[in-house]
Amino acid sequence: MPQHKKQDGNEAAYELGNLALMSSALETDAGLPEGTAKALQIAGMLQTTLELDQLIEVFSQQIEGLVPHNSIAYDYKPLQIAVARGKPEKHSCSYQLVVAAQTLGQLVFTRRRKFTANETHLLEHLLCCLVYPLRNAILYRHALTAALTDPLTGVNNRTAMNSALIRETELARRHGNALSLIAADLDHFKRINDGYGHLAGDFILKTVAETLSDCTRRTDILFRSGGEDFLILLSNTNKPGAMRLAERIRAAVDSSELIYGDHRIPVTVSLGVACFAKGDNSESLFEKADGALYAAKAAGRNCVRHADAL
Ligand code: GH3
Ligand code: MG
Repeated sequence: MPQHKKQDGNEAAYELGNLALMSSALETDAGLPEGTAKALQIAGMLQTTLELDQLIEVFSQQIEGLVPHNSIAYDYKPLQIAVARGKPEKHSCSYQLVVAAQTLGQLVFTRRRKFTANETHLLEHLLCCLVYPLRNAILYRHALTAALTDPLTGVNNRTAMNSALIRETELARRHGNALSLIAADLDHFKRINDGYGHLAGDFILKTVAETLSDCTRRTDILFRSGGEDFLILLSNTNKPGAMRLAERIRAAVDSSELIYGDHRIPVTVSLGVACFAKGDNSESLFEKADGALYAAKAAGRNCVRHADAL
């Protein structure tokens, strides 16, 4: 049963859950003889997409004639989803959406005029049409996120990396903007596993992923590309910028205090940097960064090399 908590003015919480109830609300509250048809129409329209932003847009359009509003905003914190349509106005009504003890986020409607009691009552019924499609869209988004995330470190995985590399190299080729790639690999990681155990190795991987993430900007994309290799894709970043970041990462990992149980485990990382050049594609850019990483290993590890210097 969906549960909607209205937060604007008088607090209300109640349970409703089917189209029959909703269509009767449309007939009695809004005086619409075609209530059932309208309810089915809304439900049908909401079945057409699993994309959260489209779903909110469709819902807003479908109910606009029944409950006029200037803006709608949807927020789902667990996946950091925020969808906003229209310009927020003074009066609002806000709903925490919950179905079968699962929170589905918050929905806020605003407009210049106050919402009447009849309108909020109708809106609460209309939300019954939204909650199940919304739950499906959230499940879909969770599944997509899981498919693209490395479960150990929580960063993007290799599948995500392949499509991002293709997308970003294509954008760089078309618009001529700078693009750099950093390949990072832990030094002598096998010794850590052998010396302290696999769980210690996992702990090191997680901690290093956090250090890499802390060193990068929001627009940089971090991937765990293999066992103990990471890639960082830097859009709009040229060679000096990428080299600076790579050196900052090297120094941050070298100076990090990694304590596991009674052990302080020294960890260093080698890094290879490559920049997109005319004629490059995702594979050649990756190979250049990998070649530079290999050169950093050959140069003694715990250092940075650029593909241009090979
Ligand atoms: P180099 O400095 O040349 O990179 O040496 P290395 O020992 O880091 O490289 P090598 O490729 O010889 O060994 C990588 C090790 O990474 C071996 C493998 O057991 C370990 N590894 C790969 N994935 C994981 C993982 O998910 N968890 C743990 N704990 N270890 C992993
Ligand atoms: Mg290694």
